[in-house]
Amino acid sequence: MAENRIKKVRQYCVSVMVLCLAMFGVYTVQEKTGWQNVNAEASEDQEERVETSGQLIVLGDAEAVTGGHADTEVEDSAWSQIFGTEIPELAKKQGNSCVLIKKNGTELDTIFEEMVYRKITVSLKGSVTKEDVLRVSGNALYTGEPVVEEVFIPEELKNVPLVREPKKTDEDSLLSLAIEEKGDLTRVMLEFNSVYEVTVTEDEEFYYLSLVRPHEKYDHIVVIDPGHGGIDTGTSGGGFYESHINLAVVKYLKELLDEQENWKVYYTRLNNTLPDLSTRVEFANALHADMLVSVHCNHNPVSAVNGVEVLYSKVQGAEDAFNSKVLAEICSAYVSEATGLKERPLVDRSTNLHIIKYCNMPMALIEFGYMSNRKDLSIITTEEAQRACAEAIYRSIETAFEKAEQ
Ligand SMILES: [Zn+2]
Repeated sequence: MAENRIKKVRQYCVSVMVLCLAMFGVYTVQEKTGWQNVNAEASEDQEERVETSGQLIVLGDAEAVTGGHADTEVEDSAWSQIFGTEIPELAKKQGNSCVLIKKNGTELDTIFEEMVYRKITVSLKGSVTKEDVLRVSGNALYTGEPVVEEVFIPEELKNVPLVREPKKTDEDSLLSLAIEEKGDLTRVMLEFNSVYEVTVTEDEEFYYLSLVRPHEKYDHIVVIDPGHGGIDTGTSGGGFYESHINLAVVKYLKELLDEQENWKVYYTRLNNTLPDLSTRVEFANALHADMLVSVHCNHNPVSAVNGVEVLYSKVQGAEDAFNSKVLAEICSAYVSEATGLKERPLVDRSTNLHIIKYCNMPMALIEFGYMSNRKDLSIITTEEAQRACAEAIYRSIETAFEKAEQ
């Protein structure tokens, strides 16, 4: 019967970066009534409620179904409890964490992701409601509005990015859910509780958004950060804006990175947007990335000052063979060599540059020449030098991974 229901299956792979907000309890799932058991067919004797909350529905006694322990992975039993005995084949493949949207005869229009902001918007032709959005997490099912409570954060800690850790799998994977109808389109706007790679599939009854944490999927993760963006153009010179040069270099770098399969690469931006510094560093931390490389251009009131300058943290991994300093040294040597720009000494910014201070992993912030220096500017504004810089960063990552694995 299940087979008949899966007449057409389309698959969309959507990388959605979803930042964690869990650790320090920026948000916590509130214990409240309102969770609904959507499984009318589930047999009563397999149903079980979490004693402490009395409203979070736990789907089934794993032992009864799989012979396993209730605390271990219980995908099949969870799914069987939702769907009764008719488990869609697709559901079984979704893993332990998944968002389902009941189709209600809708047609998928677009899926829009905002990776850095851990958001995904699913546009549908037709109509769905909040009650049609179901979340399976571990062996629990959530429906309706996600219930979160903002926890008091002292003023002095408000700007401090926290160490972000994934929520436990028995918690709702959504932080917020909004439905917006415009004409015949319905937009389902989902904000996740953590960083996920999202794969969207569908059968006749549901759209399935399966959620996987990137570091569980990839061995090597790199984050590339083109500095500034949007209304923040950074420094400037000769009619050029820093933010545009940073982005140009990263786009050339992306061409190279797209050709390789050794490292999974995430970007804080690939267009003229402006994620703030906390968002960028939290993104990298939440990804458990192996390294972060940020691309900037420099400025000095003294126009004679010139060259490549790489900022790093002397605190990060100070005891390790591979750390921020090692990465910075590699980037500095390669970028200056490739572009012919002077190599300046590294600068430790571990105490006074947000993105460096709070970065959990080796990071290097490359200042690719001075826009206030005429000669540097004439070089860094050319495609040739920008491509050379991109290639040097590429080789830096390669060398850095070699060092990290020694
Ligand atoms: Zn900058």
